[in-house]
Amino acid sequence: IYDSLLHVEKMNALNVLTGGIAHEFNNVLTPILGFSQMLIKKLDDPNLKIYAQMIEQSARDGAMIVKRVNEFTRKEAAGEKEPCDINDLILKSIYMVHPQWKEEELTAGKKVSIYTELKASGYVYCNCCEIRDVITNLLINAFDAIETTGKITVKSWDEDDNVCFVIEDDGIGMSDEVLEKIFTPFFTTKTKRGTGLGLSIAHNIIAGYFGTINAYSIPGYGTQMVVKLPLYNPPAHDAT
Ligand code: ADP
Repeated sequence: IYDSLLHVEKMNALNVLTGGIAHEFNNVLTPILGFSQMLIKKLDDPNLKIYAQMIEQSARDGAMIVKRVNEFTRKEAAGEKEPCDINDLILKSIYMVHPQWKEEELTAGKKVSIYTELKASGYVYCNCCEIRDVITNLLINAFDAIETTGKITVKSWDEDDNVCFVIEDDGIGMSDEVLEKIFTPFFTTKTKRGTGLGLSIAHNIIAGYFGTINAYSIPGYGTQMVVKLPLYNPPAHDAT
């Protein structure tokens, strides 16, 4: 019995690892797909158009592979840490998800406006890719929560020894029952493209930096996802 339990644990660990890589890979593919679709529309030169179509096709192939790998969670190895400007990461994440949203707005007639109020001035000492991954996941969830027309607001501020940000949407919101489970791996209410991993990965990443992530939501009104990360204190300059 002990051996078979160990086996189950090992298989779980493997699935978690595979899933984590697949999930991150998908985040890399999203802007490649979005921007290549934009290029295909904008380029006049037929040769260049073919190149862009090839990029798009490869990104689609990659997305298919990710689809097949259907058991996910987070990869363990984080890259280099450095002082990160949270406002910069927020703006980059918005820029990266934007083409994909535009595409959906065109195909599904959805209209989402995005506003920013970025007042944080402190830095966080993190791996920037991981934090961008968290922000991207929160933005995608906010977008998905809006059914037709809505608004997403991203704010950042300094608070005591923390740098904080919130991603707010006026979408469908969550019941207490859903709220209780959102950080559980594989919990999803989405029928298409939901893996139930975005928030569990986000939670792991933020906890890894001794930060917090909290959800506040009212069904029918919307959701606020609040992230707090410890402020980076640069080493004092040697005055000699
Ligand atoms: P996924 O997006 O793949 O479903 P997540 O872990 O990111 O996985 O989210 C888990 C669930 O939490 C979602 O399926 C959804 O039910 C709920 N959720 C997350 N963010 C929001 C939001 N902004 N508004 C409403 N529901 C949300």
